[in-house]
Amino acid sequence: MPGQQAGGWPPRECPECRKLFEPNRANQLFCTSQHNADWNNWATARGRVLTPFSIVARTTRNGTRGTPKAREIGKKASSRHNALIQQYRDEDRTAGRMEWAEYMIQRFRLGLDTR
Ligand SMILES: [Zn+2]
Repeated sequence: MPGQQAGGWPPRECPECRKLFEPNRANQLFCTSQHNADWNNWATARGRVLTPFSIVARTTRNGTRGTPKAREIGKKASSRHNALIQQYRDEDRTAGRMEWAEYMIQRFRLGLDTR
């Protein structure tokens, strides 16, 4: 078993480019710092767009809770949220990026998200 200091971890797949790389540290997720930055930059940009729709969709239970106006905007938010998710998924597939579920599996496996 490799230690934390010596390297020798088996190759893993970069979420951004999906190429196999040899990690330099135990919890290295991306092949280069540039790919780490690329992934985080577009994820952050998407989050800014998606978060308001996500929160309104959730807090109105997709437009099934609240006042008539809250329900109306909740339905719109839910629809927009779902369309954005599909758009992002299509963009990621076209760009050759890792699927989000696999990305999250890797993060948990490397101890980056423990809750
Ligand atoms: Zn990469």
